[in-house]
Amino acid sequence: MLEAVLAAADIGMLVLDSARRIVLWNRWMARYSGRTATEVLGRELHAVFPELDNRRIDAAIAQALRGFPSVLSQTLHKAPFPLVAQAGGPRMQQAVAVTPVALPGGERHCLIQITDVSAAVNRERLLRVQALELRSQTFSDGLTGIANRRHFDVAVEKEVRRAKRAGTPLTLLMIDIDHFKAYNDHYGHQQGDETLVRVAAALASLLQRPTDLLARYGGEEFSVILPEMDEPQALAMAEALRRRVRALDIPHGHTGPAGEPFVTISIGMAMLDTAGVASVAALIGAADRALYDAKRCGRNRVMSAPHG
Ligand code: GH3
Ligand code: MG
Ligand code: MG
Repeated sequence: MLEAVLAAADIGMLVLDSARRIVLWNRWMARYSGRTATEVLGRELHAVFPELDNRRIDAAIAQALRGFPSVLSQTLHKAPFPLVAQAGGPRMQQAVAVTPVALPGGERHCLIQITDVSAAVNRERLLRVQALELRSQTFSDGLTGIANRRHFDVAVEKEVRRAKRAGTPLTLLMIDIDHFKAYNDHYGHQQGDETLVRVAAALASLLQRPTDLLARYGGEEFSVILPEMDEPQALAMAEALRRRVRALDIPHGHTGPAGEPFVTISIGMAMLDTAGVASVAALIGAADRALYDAKRCGRNRVMSAPHG
């Protein structure tokens, strides 16, 4: 009966004697290793598996022969034994337990149990990929693909802290598309969306440093974080962004008598080291007021927050 049970078990079982010779080899082992009991019984484990070069397994066997069990961590030892579920398939992912077995005469043997955990490992891998994907979705804007508001909120806090600690400048640009309500009203919401995507891509194309961040702040508003630029550099960047969007030449015939017949943006700029601007809220507030000034002065322009 014991033999029938060993043959039916859905787990690999092999027993080594104190000289590490194989003295038991169940049917599961034969099926997945491709080596029959007749081939392996009486032979030393490493003679059967010369490719089994795993110091941790050796240590576990030595420990079991001294009377102490161990379970091999799967994260470190995914597939120590050369076992495959199907010929030509990938190596089976394994959970391995190495247990001492005391025989009546007092001699110690070592039982190795192997479980196929491929399905669980694959499921885990899939979940990890999905988690990464979800994480990136959580921080990017679904329409334009650039960073979203949540990403911006986290980044601006971090950059303000870093700039204060390092004593380096930090610039924030608040960007708003001019007369965009009229654009939507005339060209339709769908074309409005397409224009938002094109504007976002045009802005992104100018921001090349890995530390610069362009985000969709909301609706048709964008924000740009520019660390470590002095004021003339930051102003030049803001000007370049404004010109780049205008140069898209996206027709917009409904901007009012004073407006350009193309889609344009207005930009408000504020810097952390401007007197009085020492917090995230103050920085955003100052850039917002500068943006409002840019709108009031005729749009399609960059305005800087006044120095205190
Ligand atoms: P101003 O020059 O003063 O900024 O005028 P405006 O019309 O752009 O300003 P307002 O903030 O009043 O309007 C913004 C409009 O942007 C409202 C809405 O029609 C449009 N909008 C906001 N989000 C989206 C979006 O996701 N897709 C589209 N197509 N339009 C949007
Ligand atoms: Mg707006
Ligand atoms: Mg607008």
